[in-house]
Amino acid sequence: MLAGPTAVGKGTVSAYVRDTYPDVWISVSVTTRAPRPGEVDGVHYWFVDDTRFDAMVDADELLEWATVHRTARYGTPRRPVEEALAEERPCLLEIDLQGARQVKQSMPDALFVFLAPPSWEELVRRLVGRGTEPDEERTRRLETAVEELAAEKEFDATVVNTEIHAAGDELVALMRSRLSSDSGRSVDSEPA
Ligand code: 5GP
Repeated sequence: MLAGPTAVGKGTVSAYVRDTYPDVWISVSVTTRAPRPGEVDGVHYWFVDDTRFDAMVDADELLEWATVHRTARYGTPRRPVEEALAEERPCLLEIDLQGARQVKQSMPDALFVFLAPPSWEELVRRLVGRGTEPDEERTRRLETAVEELAAEKEFDATVVNTEIHAAGDELVALMRSRLSSDSGRSVDSEPA
């Protein structure tokens, strides 16, 4: 599970992992926000309207969901995650902090990785540099980022995103070491 403040590069790091490590399964979230230029339905997100999102929540089809930046709703479809886990594939969920907390309740054994910016100044530069959101939206995202940075201590590990490839490699190494330690653990040695 990869979480971290907005604009820290979670999307870029997961895109690198998708291209470089085909054995890693990456969850495609549903969202009520509009697609950005270049985003493809079913690849970057499943773009749905509020009615469809409500129906998925009511049918308990989402493993977790949250309203992010007080604007749009995002959620992780449950069934694809369960299928990938059943195949024992390394699974990557790129979600916000509220979602990570929900998954911690339902899947306490998952590995929670916090993607941190090299510095606060760099985070602000990346947020402003993206330039795709209006001022008001950027302010909202910065407010969210302050709260999210404070949550690092809730995570199992931190990866600092100084360079995308290095961060992605480190993330996959962490996932693999968790998977191999899980498979090496016998049922009898599980704590009660
Ligand atoms: P963006 O709109 O920039 O693609 O994403 C905004 C935020 O939504 C990011 O912080 C991203 O991690 C979060 N997000 C994306 N998908 C999900 C999801 O399925 N669940 C939750 N809780 N957050 C998500």
